[in-house]
Amino acid sequence: MQLLDGKFASEKIKLEIAAEAADFLAQSGRKPHLLAILVGNDGGSETYVASKMKNCEKVGFQSSLIRYNTDVTEEELLEKIREINSDAGIDGLIVQLPLPNHIDPEKVTEAIDHRKDVDGFHPVNLGRMMRNLPCFIPATPYGILLLLKAYGIDTAGKHCVVVGRSNIVGSPMSILMARNANPGNCTVTLTHSKTANLKEIALQADIIIAAIGKKNFVTADMVKPGAIIIDVGINREVSETTKSGYKLYGDVDFEHVAPLASWITPVPGGVGLMTIVGLLKNTLASAKKEIYP
Ligand code: NDP
Repeated sequence: MQLLDGKFASEKIKLEIAAEAADFLAQSGRKPHLLAILVGNDGGSETYVASKMKNCEKVGFQSSLIRYNTDVTEEELLEKIREINSDAGIDGLIVQLPLPNHIDPEKVTEAIDHRKDVDGFHPVNLGRMMRNLPCFIPATPYGILLLLKAYGIDTAGKHCVVVGRSNIVGSPMSILMARNANPGNCTVTLTHSKTANLKEIALQADIIIAAIGKKNFVTADMVKPGAIIIDVGINREVSETTKSGYKLYGDVDFEHVAPLASWITPVPGGVGLMTIVGLLKNTLASAKKEIYP
C-alpha cells in the first residue's frame, strides 16, 4: 500500500502557484484576490474558510472574508454577490455551503458571475465541463485529478466506481474520470443510495472514489485487492483526545481497507488539502483571465 499524500502533493503544487502569483503581481501590480462569504458559524464551515484564507496568504494571494449572521435575508446576500460580481479587483467569489434553510443555494450559485465562480458550481461551468470546454472545474474533483497526476497514476481503461452523486463532488467526478484525458479514460459507474448490489459493484472497481458523508462506509469486504481508493469524506466527531475538540474520519474504513489497496488517500491529509489547491488554481486562472479572456 502506498499513500496518495495530499500534504506532499499540495505543498508541491502550492510552490508552483506561489511562483505564478509572484509573476502576476510583477506584471499587473496586484495579487490574485479570492473573496469568501460565510453565513453563520457552523464549526466545519469556519474551519474550511479559515484554511482557504490561510492558504491564499501562503501563496501570495489577497483574501477577504465577508460574514453574515444566519438571519441575513436571501435578497441581502444576492445584492452583495451582484456588487462583488462587478468589482474588477476580485477574481474569485465563493459562498461557503451549507446555507441556512431560508436561502436557496441554487439561487446563490446562479447569482455568482460564472467568470468568478472558482468553486466551479455554476451551471455555465458545469455545462462547459460536460462539453470539454475551458471552465472552472469543481474544486474537489479538480483536486483529485491533480493528486492522481502528481503521483503519475495511469487511470486509462480502469473501472472507476464513484459512490455519491452530489452536484459538487460525485457527479462531476464521474464525468471527469470518463472523459478522454489523463487522468480519465475510465469506465465509470456512478452509484448512490438507491444503487442495488453496491458491494458487488464496488468489488469490481479498480478505483473507488467515496463521497458519501458516512464514517467508514467503504469496508474491506467491498474492496478488490490492488484497488486505488480516494476518500473524499470528512466526518467530524467530537473528541476529548484532540486539541480542537473534534476528530475527522473519512468515508473509508482506512485501517482495514489500506492493507488491500495499492494506493489510498488518508483523512485528514488527503483530498481536503487538494480541494484547496483546486480552488487556488481556479482563482489564479481567473486573475490571469485564462478561462474567460
Ligand atoms: P451529499 O450529502 O451532497 O451527497 C452524498 C451522496 O452519497 C448522495 O449522492 C447520496 O445518495 C450518497 N449516499 C448516501 N448514503 C448512501 C448509501 N447508503 N449508499 C450509497 N450512496 C449513498 O455529500 P457531498 O458530496 O457534498 O459530500 C460527501 C462527503 O464528502 C461529505 O463527508 C463531505 O463532508 C465531504 N466533502 C469533502 C470535501 C473535501 O474537500 N475533502 C469537499 C466536499 C465534500 P442520494 O443522492 O441517493 O441521496
